[in-house]
Amino acid sequence: MIEKRDFYIDGQWVAAQQGQDCLVIDPSTEEPCAVIALGGPADTAAAVAAAKAALPGWRATPPAERLAFVERLLEVYRRRAPEMGAAISLEMGAPIDMAIDDQAAAGTWHIENFIEAARHFEWLRPLGPQAPGTMIAQEPVGVVALITPWNWPMNQVTLKAIPAMIAGCTMVLKPSEVAPLSSLLFAEIVHEAGLPPGVFNLVNGDGAGVGTTLSGHPDVAMVSFTGSTRAGIAITKTAADTLKKVALELGGKGANLIFADADDAAVKRGVRHCLYNSGQSCNAPTRMLVERPVYDRAVEIAREVAEATRVAPASEHGAHIGPVVSEAQYEKIQGLIAKGIDEGARLVAGGPGRPEGLNRGFFVRPTVFADVTPGMTIEKEEIFGPVLSIIPFETEAEALSIANDTVYGLTNYVQTQDGARRNRLARALNAGMVETNGQSRGRGAFFGGIGASGRAREGGHWGIEEFCDSKAISGWAAE
Ligand code: NAD
Repeated sequence: MIEKRDFYIDGQWVAAQQGQDCLVIDPSTEEPCAVIALGGPADTAAAVAAAKAALPGWRATPPAERLAFVERLLEVYRRRAPEMGAAISLEMGAPIDMAIDDQAAAGTWHIENFIEAARHFEWLRPLGPQAPGTMIAQEPVGVVALITPWNWPMNQVTLKAIPAMIAGCTMVLKPSEVAPLSSLLFAEIVHEAGLPPGVFNLVNGDGAGVGTTLSGHPDVAMVSFTGSTRAGIAITKTAADTLKKVALELGGKGANLIFADADDAAVKRGVRHCLYNSGQSCNAPTRMLVERPVYDRAVEIAREVAEATRVAPASEHGAHIGPVVSEAQYEKIQGLIAKGIDEGARLVAGGPGRPEGLNRGFFVRPTVFADVTPGMTIEKEEIFGPVLSIIPFETEAEALSIANDTVYGLTNYVQTQDGARRNRLARALNAGMVETNGQSRGRGAFFGGIGASGRAREGGHWGIEEFCDSKAISGWAAE
């Protein structure tokens, strides 16, 4: 079994002062695969103190030099990407090929994009010709706490740690205690890249312990969090007493509007996207809204796609989906599938229990419900499993109203050949992101939502701005 009880503080691996052992469970086998330590207040305090001590030096390091460190980090990350994929696959159950090609690669993609954004970032700029001598500067927020979940571990860590480094912040990362191995490897990568001690620190812990201590710590200026809406609210409340900046990237209940003139592949694409990563993505299109004339056909295609989706252990090569991350998630998803049946949705694929032949591991059957109506539990709640809800609609206005009737607002999707309708809906849908006709957001766009999905803006130059405070300076001397 892997033993990784140390924390990375002030440029060194140190033993926990108040550590409690915590087993990391391989979701494909339900067996422990690693042991880590959950830290206590003294460990958190040591990491925050190291970040605080490193702040003046890092903040004063010219942006181009900070960027050079990140470029070195990218080289090391690229070299160690296969290891990263293996760590992610083991800790959260993503099939090994997907873990390398998508999960670990998401980190590479973000680091590259931040480097590009940083090259064009305006750290100091004139306000405009109407105000000679007034300058707008971007200054680092200070010591930041980064609290991350288990579903896309390196995607989320790089979306926070890299822009924080570029902005001149120093940081303490608390990764998910469920999937800590990839973040421990990320700390090794930071170390190998030679970042000055104290700029990046990692303490393992749970939400009630290290997470809460970080959120309330007087020397932490900002918490950047991705995870559940429940934890986002708790963090916001804890952070209020010290008036921290809080950036939240939370859950979602994405609507995918499929009109009768959508391209042939639209339904297949939507189902696959919903099942991808075993449904454990906050931007998953989990509510498929289908225009009545193509409804029956769409339900049939969804059934075929779900039934053709293989479920298998994470260690197997291939394009299957793996287990969900934990017993708690497995039980939660089973409960929601039962609720869908009880509330009268029509089960067309999958259903309760494990897929045939898989008696151990947190495997869930790819599940499709049709005739879901607005207000059913499976239509309202984020399931975070491979479960699709299909809802018929008659008119564009009705589709819009169903799509917007949610507390969430992360990504919505529109499939139609009618460009004017696409544009109209893209503006009218309540969401931070709208993707149409399978076109993913371009390089440099941000990721982020509104409402109960949180309002963080991660990625691109917005992602760097998140870790900056704007400063207005007047009387700037001409240089
Ligand atoms: P979670 O929100 O409980 O945990 C995410 C991170 O926050 C972990 O690092 C955890 O230790 C920490 N945390 C938890 N409570 C905290 C608190 N009070 N203060 C500070 N830190 C705290 O998420 P989870 O238990 O891993 O998953 C539960 C649900 O969250 C899922 O079913 C899913 O709906 C949602 N989720 C959403 C996303 C997303 O990307 N939007 C990611 C993961 C989970």
